[in-house]
Amino acid sequence: NNMAIRNIVKLGDEILTKKCREVKEINDRIICLLDDMTETLKAANGVGLAAPQVGVLKRVAVVDTGDTVLELINPEIIYTEGEQTDAEGCLSYPGRYGLVTRPKIVKIRATDRNGAVYEYTGEDLVARAFCHEIDHLDGHFFTELVTEWIETE
Ligand code: ZN
Repeated sequence: NNMAIRNIVKLGDEILTKKCREVKEINDRIICLLDDMTETLKAANGVGLAAPQVGVLKRVAVVDTGDTVLELINPEIIYTEGEQTDAEGCLSYPGRYGLVTRPKIVKIRATDRNGAVYEYTGEDLVARAFCHEIDHLDGHFFTELVTEWIETE
């Protein structure tokens, strides 16, 4: 397989405002998309990446838990608990961070590349990433939720 780093679209691109379509069939294009998204996420040193950020309007995202990169096809949040307020940023808006309140614990249900449905409970940064990436799939950007911008440098 030939993994490739894809171009990450930036805030202002209309594609980031669109709702993504459900994945009906996990074909070679979806596998290639997942491979490329993981490659792109690692190259950019990010925590999460959603398909619309590489120009694809499909319900696909990848999230780095620190141990592994989770592949999320048609993810949904099935449980949340608590609250956390912390700095959040996005690869589509480089260098800008704002305070965003998210649940402390987020449990998702998603499909993996083999078509198996799995559940995963994330805390703190991973919980934040799940919310952030699933927002992307619905055309939402974290800037909508920022309560205070953090001055860098
Ligand atoms: Zn983002």
